[in-house]
Amino acid sequence: MADKFVYLFGGGKADGNEKMKNLLGGKGANLAEMCRLGIPVPAGFTVTTECCTAYFANNSKLPASLNGQVLAALAKTESIMGMKYGNPDNPLLVSCRSGARKSMPGMMDTVLNVGLSTATIPGMIKKTNNPRFVWDSYRRLIMMYADVVMEKAEGMEPVGGKGIRKIMDDTLDQFKHSRGAKSDTDLKADDLKLLSEEFKKLVLKHLGKAFPDDPMAQLWGGIAAVFKSWNGKKAVSYRRIEGIPDAWGTAVNVQAMVFGNMGDSSATGVAFTRDPATGDNKFYGEWLVNAQGEDVVAGIRTPSPINDSTKNEQNKHLHSMQEAMPATYKALDAIRNKLEKHFTDMLDIEFTIQEGKLWMLQCRVGKRTGTAALNMAMDMLDEKLIDQKTAVQRLNPKQLDELLHPIIDPKAEKDASPIVKGLPAGPGAASGALVFTAEAAVASAKAGTKCILIREETNPEDVEGMRAAVGILTARGGMTSHAALVARGWGKCCIVGAGGMHVDAASQTAKIAGTDVVLKAGDVVTLNGTKVHVYKGSMPMVSATENPRFQKFMTMADKFRTMGVRTNAETPQDAKVARGFGAEGIGLFRFEHMFYGEGSDRPLFLLRRMIVSKTEAERRKALEEMFPFMKDDVKKTLDVMDGLPVTFRFLDPPLHEFVPNRADERQRLATDLGISIDEFNKRADALHESNPMMGHRGVRLGVSYPEMTETQTQAILEAAAELIQAGKNAKPEIMIPVTSTSAEIVDQKKIIDRVYEKVLAKFNLSKSKLVLVVGTMIEIPRACITADKFAGVCEFFSFGTNDLTQMGFGFSRDDIGSFLPHYMDRKILAADPFQTIDQEGIGELIKMGINKGRSVKPNLKIGICGEHGGEPESVKFCYKVGMSYVSCSPYRVPLARLAAAQAAIAAEAEPKAAKPTPAPKKAAAKPAARPVTKKPAAKKVAKKVAKKAVKKVTKKPAKKAAKKAAAKRPAAKKTAKKGKKR
Ligand code: PEP
Ligand code: MG
Repeated sequence: MADKFVYLFGGGKADGNEKMKNLLGGKGANLAEMCRLGIPVPAGFTVTTECCTAYFANNSKLPASLNGQVLAALAKTESIMGMKYGNPDNPLLVSCRSGARKSMPGMMDTVLNVGLSTATIPGMIKKTNNPRFVWDSYRRLIMMYADVVMEKAEGMEPVGGKGIRKIMDDTLDQFKHSRGAKSDTDLKADDLKLLSEEFKKLVLKHLGKAFPDDPMAQLWGGIAAVFKSWNGKKAVSYRRIEGIPDAWGTAVNVQAMVFGNMGDSSATGVAFTRDPATGDNKFYGEWLVNAQGEDVVAGIRTPSPINDSTKNEQNKHLHSMQEAMPATYKALDAIRNKLEKHFTDMLDIEFTIQEGKLWMLQCRVGKRTGTAALNMAMDMLDEKLIDQKTAVQRLNPKQLDELLHPIIDPKAEKDASPIVKGLPAGPGAASGALVFTAEAAVASAKAGTKCILIREETNPEDVEGMRAAVGILTARGGMTSHAALVARGWGKCCIVGAGGMHVDAASQTAKIAGTDVVLKAGDVVTLNGTKVHVYKGSMPMVSATENPRFQKFMTMADKFRTMGVRTNAETPQDAKVARGFGAEGIGLFRFEHMFYGEGSDRPLFLLRRMIVSKTEAERRKALEEMFPFMKDDVKKTLDVMDGLPVTFRFLDPPLHEFVPNRADERQRLATDLGISIDEFNKRADALHESNPMMGHRGVRLGVSYPEMTETQTQAILEAAAELIQAGKNAKPEIMIPVTSTSAEIVDQKKIIDRVYEKVLAKFNLSKSKLVLVVGTMIEIPRACITADKFAGVCEFFSFGTNDLTQMGFGFSRDDIGSFLPHYMDRKILAADPFQTIDQEGIGELIKMGINKGRSVKPNLKIGICGEHGGEPESVKFCYKVGMSYVSCSPYRVPLARLAAAQAAIAAEAEPKAAKPTPAPKKAAAKPAARPVTKKPAAKKVAKKVAKKAVKKVTKKPAKKAAKKAAAKRPAAKKTAKKGKKR
């Protein structure tokens, strides 16, 4: 660690620069850079993030050498600004602001007007000739300082939950009321002076200490409080959500104050160099005359637009800066252009005008919507501000979720107010007439009318209605509710838990609490599933996927991508959607899905009959009848994926899960088998297992019942053969699940090869015409450890990271929900390992599997088909370890494509020092040699998201299949009921 803890900026010079974000924080680095660019920035200094970490490491004590460094920097700041800190005649005031490496807007604390005291107030009044301004600044200092430094930083728990800030705010309101003042600006100098005295008394009374009157004491209190706010509740939760490491720490920026509240020639504002909602290349911002920065962001006063392009219905009557201060606006606009050119990105800027002079207080890369990110990337590319690789990096893969669904035209939404809000269950937007029952939704869809299904909560019986509706809205339920799960699976817009709404299905009305709005059947509403707003009436939609810019962007991203992207799909419909999204094959077709959903009654009946069969003959009879159904499903999917590989995975779930519980269904099966109900029940009970996830499933079924392997192989190969004879290019692959020893593959391959020979003969095809590819899932740790043996008998591996995580951690996929939140809260786990690959542990198993496999077969094709295949950080990991492809659900295909492209671009920029993973010489999807680094797992998982993911992947396969398949097929009502309702 360096001994230099303080970096100066101001007067056109700076010790730091924009590249020093890790040390100076984003704010400090950019303030330094703006100074270097000759942009007017009030002078000051940055206390480094290293000082913050030293402070925490040293029991919350500032390093001894800091004192001298701060005093020296303060002296230089004084000389640049021509004022002196604590000087009664010419006092300098400063702000203490936080600034982490990555922006954490509003999560840490700031203190303004530091240095005002009984000694400096008279000098300030004399200097400014503006007592009102000085007393206003003083009362603000007391409010902020008491709240941030004296209460929060000291860890004081406010009595009755009412903190000092709230007590002072209430006092301010009462004071305004007693003076007949509408706004803060109506208070006179004497009022504010009186208020300041009152505030000081409140501080002493409630916090037990006097507000410090010594400017130096204020400064040190401010610096330490900003450091402490790094560990404040808000900041800690935000870090959890955003995956920001605790160890980073924050910097503190101590900067000369400039004042936007010195009268009508002063102002303050925030702006974006382009529109952050639409991406339009228009300067966009808000300002307030005679105010300090926090007034704009805190919503105390309604800000005015800075220019014409920021005007909307609510603020169009207010004076813009462009109109009120044209020259200063022009100067600001010039700075906007200079900054964009320099930083080559959209920036979020803060400025203050002090008596006509413009000062820049901050600039940072601005947050933006997915649409805006896309538009800006493509515009900046056209403007030659950035190159293609940079443009591809500009979209967060998670933002694609937003882009893949129709969205409300941002221009229309800007002026609309929601009637109720809820939780984001399914993204995108939808507009339609309200229906209160699933039946009404189905009828509405049949009549060609778009509808929104509104329910108090949904249950599995609603599944057909949910399918028929364009959007779903519920008053109850969380992110993991049935509605949320199903909607997400379909990529359907859905808002759940809109608690401000009471739905009465009997009277077909929904009342919005606190308003007189009563929604009735047929009323049109619009949902924004991303913002989770519900609007009355219909609003215009735009579809980003149809947007040629989106297509162009994805094509551009693909140019840099070297890893393949397939999909997990088991219906022709899903396959079609995925192909449309750019899937280059199917990486996982789960056979069991054909026993759920539309038209599944008969195959499911036959499967059940097979399960409870006692003899091979009984089983064969059931399989024979099941065969045409299997072949038909396989054929339709192969047809949709013509020319692309389709990996069919043999039946995997524990068989007992298919056994019916209902007496009538059991009786029907018993009759069909010609056995008594007692005998049937005996057979069914015998299937019970204590640990089904480690029981009779996957390859073990094929070992016990070779006829199952035989029938599935025959269905796959005959379907392919028929398509090939019809001139199609069917490319089936057979995948054996849950293998733990290569001997299982050897055993199964004998059966598969035998069937292969038969099918070739039957259809008179050669091996080069109907190519057989057999591989295995690697989802048991033993398979990773012995992957060299597997490679000898397999043509490909596909990592089943759902089971690999389950068996590697020993965490049940079904039951992790009960303890994961505790693990996350106590920081034992940084992320849900079922959502983001645990690189430290499971990742090592994966690497071992890949390295051992390729040590035997250098060209071995290796993919992933667990849920992680569609999670951006995991996709990046898959790239790094040299996988040939990832496979994920259809709606996540573009996300995976983008994440893979970004990983390839990032790897190019990385130093080549790290040890490369051996890459196949001619693997199908061109994996390149890439460094295997040991970066810690990305920690980007919010608790809610984690919970949702757990639910998504931790159901028992059959139940999961029931829900997923039910969700996917319109006439799935009966089957859906089999899935437990949550
Ligand atoms: C897996 O285990 O990762 C996998 C894809 O298989 P399933 O989820 O069907 O067990
Ligand atoms: Mg599995």
